[in-house]
Amino acid sequence: MITVFGSINLDLVVAVPRLPTAGETVSGRDHQTFPGGKGANQALAARRAGADVRFIGAVGQDSFAELALLNLREAGVDLSGVRTMAGSTGLALIGIDPAGENQIIVASGTNARVEASWLEGGFGPGQTLLVQGEVPLVEVIEGARLARDAAGTVIWNPAPVPEGDLSDCLDVAGTVVVNVSEAAEIGGRLGIAGDTETFALKLAEGGRNVIVTLGADGVLARTPTARYRFASPAVNAVDTTGAGDAFCGALAAALDRKTSFERALKEGAAAGALACTVTGAQSSAPHLEDIARLAD
Ligand code: ATP
Repeated sequence: MITVFGSINLDLVVAVPRLPTAGETVSGRDHQTFPGGKGANQALAARRAGADVRFIGAVGQDSFAELALLNLREAGVDLSGVRTMAGSTGLALIGIDPAGENQIIVASGTNARVEASWLEGGFGPGQTLLVQGEVPLVEVIEGARLARDAAGTVIWNPAPVPEGDLSDCLDVAGTVVVNVSEAAEIGGRLGIAGDTETFALKLAEGGRNVIVTLGADGVLARTPTARYRFASPAVNAVDTTGAGDAFCGALAAALDRKTSFERALKEGAAAGALACTVTGAQSSAPHLEDIARLAD
C-alpha cells in the first residue's frame, strides 16, 4: 500500500496568441481543465503502475474540488483521507502561447493547510509514504516521521525544492528523487561542491538512496553500497510534462511490491519515457503492462 500525502490542483489552461504583459488582457478561445498537483499526479501514476494507493490531502468547498479528484476516483485511488476544508481548491491558471511558452499563476488554496496529523495510525510495517514539495515542509517532515516510526518506507521528491532546513526531511527519507536542477539547488544549499555524481554520492553516504533523473539521458542513482546509471528507453517524445511524476509513481509502485532497487529504477525510467509520448500530466501516466514491457 502506498500513501501519497501531497497537493491536488485543478489546472485551467487557455491557449493565447501571446502571453500578456503586466496590466494587459489577452484573449484566447475555449479553456481546458486538467486535474493536477504533484501529489495527485504521483498518486495516479502509482495506481496506474499497479499499486494500491490512498491519497491524503485537501480540497476546498468549491466546484473545482470534484474535477480535481476525478481521475483519482476513476482509477480507484482510495480518497477516504481527503478532507474538504473552508477555502479554495488548489488552482493553477496557465496561459500558453503558440511557441509553447507558458505563464502560470498558482493559488495553493487548501494545499497550504494539510496536516500530518491526518496520517496518524495510518501506517503498517513495509508500507510506503510518497511525498513531494508542494505542501508545507514541516507537515511533510512530521508525516515522514510517522511513516518511518511505523517501519514504513519514505520516498521524498522535493519538487519544487522547499524553503527552509532540508536536513530533517533528508534524515527520515529512505529514498530521495530529484531532477538535475533540484540536485543543483539542494547541493548548493547543503554546501556540496561538484557535479551530480558527487551530489548523489555525498547524500547516499548519509545512509539513504539518492536518485537523480536526467531527462532523456535516463537516471543516476546511488545507494550507500551501489551505483546505478541507465539510459532512458528511446521514445518519440511529444510532451515531457509529467515525466518526473510518472517516474516517481512507478518507482514507488515497484518498490512497494518489493522488486529490486535496480528493477524499480528501470520501471521508473520506462514510465517517465512513456509519459513523454502523450500530452498532459495525468493523462500521460502509463499503465503497468506498458511500463513492464519497456523496462524488460
Ligand atoms: P518534468 O518536470 O518534465 O515532469 P522532471 O524534470 O521532474 O520532469 P526528468 O528528469 O525530465 O524529470 O524526467 C524523468 C524521467 O523521465 C527521466 O529519468 C527519464 O527516464 C524519462 N524521460 C524524461 N524525458 C525523456 C525523453 N525525452 N525521452 C525519454 N525518456 C525521458
